[in-house]
Amino acid sequence: MTKSLSPEIASIVLSDIRDGIMVTNTKNEIVFVNKAFSKVTGYSEKEVIGCNPNILNSARHDDGFFIDMWNSLNQAGHWKGEIWDKRKNGEVYLEFLSISAIKNAEGNTEHFVAVFTDINEKRKAEQQLDRAALYDVLTDLPNRNQTIHYLQNKINTSRRNHKLLAVVMLDLDDFKLTNDKFGHDLGDRLLVVIAQRLKRLIRSTDMVGRLGGDEFAIILSDLNNFDEVEQMTNRINSLVASSIKVDGKKYKLTTSLGITLFPFDDADAEMLLRHADQAMYKAKENGKNQSHLFDVEKDQQAQTRRELLQQLSIALKEDELLLYYQPKVNMRTGKIIGAEALIRWQHPEDGLIGPGQFLPHVEYHDLIIEIGEWVIRKALTQLSYWISKGLKLTVSVNIAARQILKRDFISSLKEIINDFPEVPLELLELEILESAALENTDHVAKVIAQCRKMGIHFALDDFGTGYASLSYLRDIPADVLKIDQSFVFNILEKRKDLALIEGIIGLAAAFQRTVIAEGIEKTEQGVLLMRLGCDLGQGFGIAKPMPAENMLLWVNNYQPDPEWSLWADTSWEISDFPLLVAQHDHIKWVKNIMMYIEGKTNSLNPAILIDHHECRFGHWYYEYGMQRYKHIENFFDIEPIHILVHQLGHEIVKLCDAGEIAQAREKATELLQLKDQILEKLAVLQRKVVASQ
Ligand code: C2E
Ligand code: MG
Ligand code: MG
Repeated sequence: MTKSLSPEIASIVLSDIRDGIMVTNTKNEIVFVNKAFSKVTGYSEKEVIGCNPNILNSARHDDGFFIDMWNSLNQAGHWKGEIWDKRKNGEVYLEFLSISAIKNAEGNTEHFVAVFTDINEKRKAEQQLDRAALYDVLTDLPNRNQTIHYLQNKINTSRRNHKLLAVVMLDLDDFKLTNDKFGHDLGDRLLVVIAQRLKRLIRSTDMVGRLGGDEFAIILSDLNNFDEVEQMTNRINSLVASSIKVDGKKYKLTTSLGITLFPFDDADAEMLLRHADQAMYKAKENGKNQSHLFDVEKDQQAQTRRELLQQLSIALKEDELLLYYQPKVNMRTGKIIGAEALIRWQHPEDGLIGPGQFLPHVEYHDLIIEIGEWVIRKALTQLSYWISKGLKLTVSVNIAARQILKRDFISSLKEIINDFPEVPLELLELEILESAALENTDHVAKVIAQCRKMGIHFALDDFGTGYASLSYLRDIPADVLKIDQSFVFNILEKRKDLALIEGIIGLAAAFQRTVIAEGIEKTEQGVLLMRLGCDLGQGFGIAKPMPAENMLLWVNNYQPDPEWSLWADTSWEISDFPLLVAQHDHIKWVKNIMMYIEGKTNSLNPAILIDHHECRFGHWYYEYGMQRYKHIENFFDIEPIHILVHQLGHEIVKLCDAGEIAQAREKATELLQLKDQILEKLAVLQRKVVASQ
């Protein structure tokens, strides 16, 4: 059974219901409105009856919107949705509208009934809530969350359009003092003024947000170069600096700015803000009222260093560090004199790592001292073990600058040593870098003197690289000078390095110090060093650093280089030094020809090429050499070969110039053989010279 309302009740319902109701006819004229309609729209019944409903049109919707609406009404008979309409007073409001087509008995539409609810207030309240989550209440600027969100979008855009993006962190200087002095209310008003000024300053593509307190972030996008950033930060600075008038009183503020630039600083939004913040703190540290650019490279280095420091300190506790040992020998006698302890890191993932990869990162940190003490303890443990096995070797330990420069170095050393009464301290040698000793000569001299009293020797490592003066060598009582390997590497090729080594050896002799060379890789380097008066050596040519457990076997099997024993009974006079140099000159000449063949040089002096008197070797041979060695028969064996060398060299150059490179290369093999013959003859001569002394 269908119940229907009486017309009276229906009319009351329609008229008094809280929703607005409007009925139109097919001519689109309003035929009925209720009280709620008038309340919401501001139009009385009288004003609208007969009018087109478009009097309510807010112009916020395009034609497409209404076409869709009519399609729905014509096809389905109803439509509902949110729509912006306009009140009589011009105010635009949001309503929820539901329209139904009313059909007659024949099924033809006669009327449309629109029922609507004003949801403007509700939406406003919602929006306010949303806004509070995204905007700062005091300044109405985007808050931290919104700033991060915006920045992330800008990062994505910048990635696409390859433009610069700058994040500028702004913090007012001494704002706490302003707050304390004038009260928080005034502080707040100043912040509002600053916010307004910043908002006016930025372009439409930029944004400014308040991150909290007196901290603002400004995001500048679409930049072409750093100049634009600078211009902007200058403007910000002067804008903040111009005085602010509140209640007739003037206030002056300054600001510190931290800037970071994407994509140089290729980080996400949170990280960019953090980096700009770090840079801002740097600006504060530097004296405030200025800006500072975040240094990406430095930060990455610092980050790597922090991580490494952490890992290394764990490695120390987890026993991942170990010592390798590299033997040191007397090349002349063939005796093994000791071994240098060299640290390694058995990394759980990366395998065995050399000290060059981690020590430099900790050398300015106290961890290096902890590591250094561990090294001494470990080396003494090893010494003690070797002694128990009948092996008596000196073990040298490298000491970092920071470690030796520490005031309590001696007492810490003694503490360790006391645990090893079975180890004679004469077997312990400490190596310090020449440069470390130079840092505080007085302190280092005292430490060395105290160690010597205990029997511990000292070596100056990498000697020759630290610009030591003679007076310094007088003051530092180190027993050993260790010639840096970089000079030893080049001793066969570079006259200057040879001269330098000569100098160091002379210096050691004059100051009565022992001299040892490191980095000996080739037999000839050792021979030359011995001839110059340096008999002690260390290097891959003797043995590479090895695990401690391999040392006993190595010591038992060691065979000195037979070439070295040839020089066992010889010594060398300074006046014969040019004879050593002569071989360099010859090697260099041949090397030049080889380079010519390979196209690595295109300038050869023709005189030097053709005339065997004119090359450096020739100069030596026919002048100094002739004077000094003409009494030695073998001296004259050299000349015919040298002449051949020049003839052959000349031929090779001509072949090269004619483009006959293959042939030139063939001849080069011959040339190299001749070179070796000369070197051999020179060696014979050198031996004769030494024997005759
Ligand atoms: P260093 O004290 O001058 O040690 C010599 C370095 O030269 C070692 O490198 C050694 O393996 C390398 N070497 C020796 N002979 C040759 C050779 O013929 N050819 C070549 N190419 N290299 C040779 P390593 O073990 O990598 O040590 C590098 C540096 O690290 C050491 O130079 C030393 O300054 C430092 N170091 C090593 N262990 C320690 C340690 O326990 N404490 C401290 N503070 N520094 C250490
Ligand atoms: Mg060393
Ligand atoms: Mg060294």
